[in-house]
Amino acid sequence: MTEATTVDVIVVGGGPAGIQAAIECANRDASVVLVERFALGGELINIDAMTGVPGQAGIAGAEYAAILSDALFQTPVRMELEDVTEIARAGTGWKVGTRGSAFNGNALIVCSGARPENLPARGEAGIDPFRGNGISTCAPCDAPLYRAKTVAVAGGGDTGVEAALALTAAGARVVLFERSSQLTAQGPLLRTLASVAGVEVRCNTAVIDVGGEGSVSEVLVQTIDGTHTAAVGGVVLAVGLRPNSDLLKGVVDLDQRGAVLVNASLAASEANLYAAGDVRSGSSFRCVGALGDGTVAGAAALVAIS
Ligand SMILES: Cc1cc2nc3c(=O)[nH]c(=O)nc-3n(C[C@H](O)[C@H](O)[C@H](O)COP(=O)(O)OP(=O)(O)OC[C@H]3O[C@@H](n4cnc5c(N)ncnc54)[C@H](O)[C@@H]3O)c2cc1C
Repeated sequence: MTEATTVDVIVVGGGPAGIQAAIECANRDASVVLVERFALGGELINIDAMTGVPGQAGIAGAEYAAILSDALFQTPVRMELEDVTEIARAGTGWKVGTRGSAFNGNALIVCSGARPENLPARGEAGIDPFRGNGISTCAPCDAPLYRAKTVAVAGGGDTGVEAALALTAAGARVVLFERSSQLTAQGPLLRTLASVAGVEVRCNTAVIDVGGEGSVSEVLVQTIDGTHTAAVGGVVLAVGLRPNSDLLKGVVDLDQRGAVLVNASLAASEANLYAAGDVRSGSSFRCVGALGDGTVAGAAALVAIS
């Protein structure tokens, strides 16, 4: 059994919220461990050109993630590249476990973000049988695979329109399905979309399932007239986000989506546990919002344990 390392604050997740929370705590002289399972930057590393970051318009998400990571490396925060598999109470603080390590913290700030939502008719297996075989949740990463193919994009918000643009830039034809009567993406994205060729928009049409032998060859869509199929060479999912809060079920209160319920200080329902960024209820789903959350949660956590 590994002996637990004890720190003032444990941060789970190294996206913008987690990086900023860790920096905030370290700058106030707290000992901090940040546990990230994949790479610093979180969702940022999948963004082609960022919007909504003052002074950084159009910056590649990976480049901005490197700027944030550099700021983190200027602090004494201890970084652990591991998947958190357990979160539990330990006295008045919290214990966080991974396969190889355990950490005890007087406070815990959960910044684990969110993942793409499943399709409604996919059931428990979800999209896994088709993952890597025609289903993508990251258009900028996978767009080159779809060159000269017809690709369905499910969802006409910011993420869906950004996906459509990345796919057409890579030479794919795109059918963009949106369940409501109009696309919901921001104006600048819609204007860019209107200026490119190769995107067909179908509103009032929800993608509910995918089909194919081994790899995706069709989507099942629902319209006011009933369900229909459309032949495609792949599907990009952009139908919403599900919070990465599975480890917190039964630990703190979650809302109907599974997001962590927090107060104005981003404190969850149990003492000394905070949630920041896309994992929390009421998130702005924007990078700057996640950074702000990190600051608020970090400062509040230190007040609580001082
Ligand atoms: C395609 C796309 C385009 C976007 N474009 C923009 C944009 O232009 N401008 C903008 O402001 N915002 C944009 N966003 C939104 C922005 O990326 C997010 O709001 C922001 O990244 C949320 O930050 P976060 O730290 O809460 O979560 P995330 O960035 O999701 O980071 C969460 C981190 O937690 C880690 N993690 C999760 N579970 C565990 C675990 N059990 N153990 C260890 N680590 C774990 C993950 O690996 C991840 O690194 C975009 C998002 C997407 C998907």
